[in-house]
Amino acid sequence: MALRHIDEPARRTPLVDDYQVVVAGGGTAGVIAAIAAARNGARTLLVERGGFLGGHIASQLLEHSAGWFDARGTRIVGGLPQELVDRLVAAGASPGHVRDDTGYTLSRVPVNHELFKSVVTAMCHESGVDLLMFSPVVQVLRDGDRLTAVIVENKSGRTAYAAGAVVDCTGDADVAERAGCAFLSEQTGAGDTQPVSLLFKLGGIDHAALLDHVDAHPEQFKLGVAPAALRGEAHVNLWGFGPQLKQAHADGVVSLARNELHYSGWALTGEAVINVTRCAVDATRADEMGRAEVVLRRQVQEFTEFFRRYIPGAQNCFLSASASCVGVRESRRIRGRTVLRDDDVRRGARFADGVLRGGFPIDSHDPKGASLDAAEHVAGGYDIPLGALLPERIDGLLVAGRCISAERRALASARITGTCMAMGQAAGTAAALAAHDGLAPGAIDVTLLQRTLKAQGAILGDGA
Ligand SMILES: Cc1cc2nc3c(=O)[nH]c(=O)nc-3n(C[C@H](O)[C@H](O)[C@H](O)COP(=O)(O)OP(=O)(O)OC[C@H]3O[C@@H](n4cnc5c(N)ncnc54)[C@H](O)[C@@H]3O)c2cc1C
Repeated sequence: MALRHIDEPARRTPLVDDYQVVVAGGGTAGVIAAIAAARNGARTLLVERGGFLGGHIASQLLEHSAGWFDARGTRIVGGLPQELVDRLVAAGASPGHVRDDTGYTLSRVPVNHELFKSVVTAMCHESGVDLLMFSPVVQVLRDGDRLTAVIVENKSGRTAYAAGAVVDCTGDADVAERAGCAFLSEQTGAGDTQPVSLLFKLGGIDHAALLDHVDAHPEQFKLGVAPAALRGEAHVNLWGFGPQLKQAHADGVVSLARNELHYSGWALTGEAVINVTRCAVDATRADEMGRAEVVLRRQVQEFTEFFRRYIPGAQNCFLSASASCVGVRESRRIRGRTVLRDDDVRRGARFADGVLRGGFPIDSHDPKGASLDAAEHVAGGYDIPLGALLPERIDGLLVAGRCISAERRALASARITGTCMAMGQAAGTAAALAAHDGLAPGAIDVTLLQRTLKAQGAILGDGA
């Protein structure tokens, strides 16, 4: 069937303000990018499509932030992201870096996602970042290959903001897409990306009874510690429940076949965040995200019932919260000046323009499989180069977060929140340096950027 069209009338859009740096997307990478740009002297606007800051950490009720140390125990993320962790600890929103009980990685940072929203908002405000909420970026303006302004639509209408440099932290690279950038993800078939999920929180769990079960059946769990070590912990991190999941699927209680789930329990409050739902979609298609919403909300109900019926200590549990939107692991990845290759991650690659470090396992969820069986451990840390944050052709634009220029398995490591925040610091600082000197981000002095980042606590590879 031929596609039908309408022609919209031409319109005049008010240019409301000129900023040195505009950050699109106030999520994991975006809040740090905006704070970094503002603290480095740039007049900065942060534009967020939703009603709160914090991105996936807040919207997904994320169990914990990860990616702060590599497998050798070397710290790979510091600077502004660590300042955020310190602020969370001071606000009672996190115990800071604690052991990963599952042994998958060395440590994790459990987060109270409600307080997280308040803390990141306060940090942006104190740093002098101007905020525009409920304002999706819907279009951009270009002068040749140079991005010059973003256009947002909100309850005030459609308005434009000029920018010396734009940092795209929308997760889905919406700005880069509107700017005409090329994408590595164009080669990825629909449904081949990692699945989307909805995390949910259960209340009313008797953790002591649950830990009795872990004591009696340690073989049902991936444990990095002896079961006794879980007693008395404020946060209990469990990975398993395979036999119960199998039985529940056979009994028709859950429609999705899974052989493991991730359980992150807050022992004192009897709450736990559960990571188990999944659905294969192209997350850049609104109609497919509509289908995912239906499928995942049904799965949340089924798995809540699963806990009540099959998990010791959870007989009286109830659904106390669910993610405010479908969580996306993978969608668009820009084609950058440098592509972070899968093997760069595996071999701990070094780049002369390295501006941050990654080091999380290649954490790839198979959209059709029942487990995380495609995960791959990496021996140590690796550099992420500035070139992976810079689109190949379009200037005036940097990208940070899960839409950087990386091959699929490389991104499966780099998409973790600790790494995304470090990307935010690198991209925000680069944008401020570019705007200060009236340069395109691709033309800045990389050694100056590296020196500035290091002076502000960021961790770069030796020699950078
Ligand atoms: C189910 C699930 C579980 C995960 N578990 C963990 C975990 O346990 N630990 C961990 O460290 N990581 C985990 N991750 C990975 C991690 O959460 C994400 O990869 C990371 O948060 C991505 O950061 P980001 O800044 O790229 O995107 P986001 O944090 O999603 O931020 C993007 C922001 O941009 C806004 N936005 C989008 N489009 C526009 C637009 N057009 N205009 C304006 N604003 C826009 C969004 O509203 C959002 O605020 C998980 C991911 C998922 C999906």
